[in-house]
Amino acid sequence: MIEEATQYHVNEKGYYGRFGGAFVPEMLYPNVEELRKNYLQIIAEPSFQTEFQALLRDYVGRPTPLFFASRLSEKYGTQIYLKREDLCHTGAHKVNNTIGQILVAKRLNKQRIVAETGAGQHGVATATVCALMGMECIVYMGELDIERQASNVARMKMLGAEVRAATCGSKTLKDATNEAMRHWINNPVDTHYIIGSVVGPHPYPDMVARFQSVISEEIRWQLREKTGRENPDYVIACVGGGSNAAGAFYHFLDEPSVRLIALEAAGKGLTSGHSAATTALGKPGVLHGSRTILMQTDDGQITEPYSISAGLDYPGIGPLHAYLFDSGRGEFYSATDEEAVQAAFELAQLEGIIPALETAHALAHLSRLGARAHEVVVINLSGRGDKDLATYMKYIQ
Ligand SMILES: *Cc1c(COP(=O)(O)O)cnc(C)c1O
Repeated sequence: MIEEATQYHVNEKGYYGRFGGAFVPEMLYPNVEELRKNYLQIIAEPSFQTEFQALLRDYVGRPTPLFFASRLSEKYGTQIYLKREDLCHTGAHKVNNTIGQILVAKRLNKQRIVAETGAGQHGVATATVCALMGMECIVYMGELDIERQASNVARMKMLGAEVRAATCGSKTLKDATNEAMRHWINNPVDTHYIIGSVVGPHPYPDMVARFQSVISEEIRWQLREKTGRENPDYVIACVGGGSNAAGAFYHFLDEPSVRLIALEAAGKGLTSGHSAATTALGKPGVLHGSRTILMQTDDGQITEPYSISAGLDYPGIGPLHAYLFDSGRGEFYSATDEEAVQAAFELAQLEGIIPALETAHALAHLSRLGARAHEVVVINLSGRGDKDLATYMKYIQ
């Protein structure tokens, strides 16, 4: 977590190239400004690092293994390693970020946490750390999502969180985010807003990327132990907002020999009108406080995204990813619902690991990668598939 100043890290004004910034209503400015002024210093404090590292170890279960997938490797004729974020407490990488942010909130003397959630995964990860720290937790969730994701709503409630319905607009993630921000505006002194991905106004994208960067920090030493070299030839991750990808890419951003490959959800196909492939379909615009690439109509209305995986169902990507795309440092592809489900079954039957549907999009790229026999491919296994069983069951005869 040392200060780094390279072209792929956020600059002092909060930008990655022409993306990023903090486009917030005046009422929200003091909250965001308090965070911006303090986050780097707080994260750098030895007492913060000690507490953060201890929780990652003893509560989350880190380091997560880097697993050599021998049967998958044989099938694709290359060396494939899986970074097992699916083994984190709560079943995905999201908790790395919520742990970091709640520790920041404590040091800013906040007593209450507010968060948005789409499918409920970030809501559960937030409710979890609030229970751990004995903090009040309010999660805004679209009314439609509350109906669709009953089990995650139950989890949040069991963990002691209050789930509030966002009843405006399309009653989904975008509207929940608006409601959460409104709540924060009205409670600026005692509340911290925990965003769930590398999105939102500066400093959120940078802060979340730093908390998730533990993923690539571990990959480096684990790969050195296993292969004698720190740098793989490829790192592959799925991108919704982009936090697991940012974490997996972070320590390789300035290593040009490492190809960084991001997979978006093509949904029913890029031209089907039911997709979430932001870089393929979107253009620059401002959403939730930052300038990035967004799926939108010609007159700038955000288009409703679609993916079989709730975690990739977001109309934008974080500004870091917009910049990686724009600059060519990152390579962006997409996989359809069908391709993702196929890849999930393949991993289950070749390695005995059932991945989250989000992760399955990254796995789907293996068949197109064309990696050579001696090359090393790391896939970030962002989460486990238990939550997606109802969907997978539709594909089982
Ligand atoms: C939420 C989620 C994602 C997508 O979020 P990012 O911020 O893009 O990482 C990916 N995988 C899993 C398992 C998730 O729960």
